[in-house]
Amino acid sequence: MPTGNDCPACGENIGIWAVFRAPFPNRIFCPHCRERLRYGHTDLLIAGAVCAFVALTVLGLAAALWVGFGDVVQVVVAPVAVLLLGGAAIEVVFVCVLWYGSYRLELVNRPKTDWDDETV
Ligand SMILES: [Zn+2]
Repeated sequence: MPTGNDCPACGENIGIWAVFRAPFPNRIFCPHCRERLRYGHTDLLIAGAVCAFVALTVLGLAAALWVGFGDVVQVVVAPVAVLLLGGAAIEVVFVCVLWYGSYRLELVNRPKTDWDDETV
């Protein structure tokens, strides 16, 4: 039974790792046929991710203020740790939302009329 995570070009499940490796939901590549894919209708999700990263940046700056500016190592390490850990957590959450949500993969470079009906 096809799912929203099947490649519309070759019909194979792309696997969650292909979604993790993609920097954006529209820069996913099928590991089987190398077709460029995207999840459709992700505008609100992307806006939410941008807001989460902005909030994370503010938290990183707040961490730098919290540790004070006496020790240069602490001033650098605190915000970097907040950004790395928070960024990883945000990525895991958004990949899981894409993977387990009702989002469906689409081809980026070909219109839907060119899709092979047998594999969709
Ligand atoms: Zn494919």
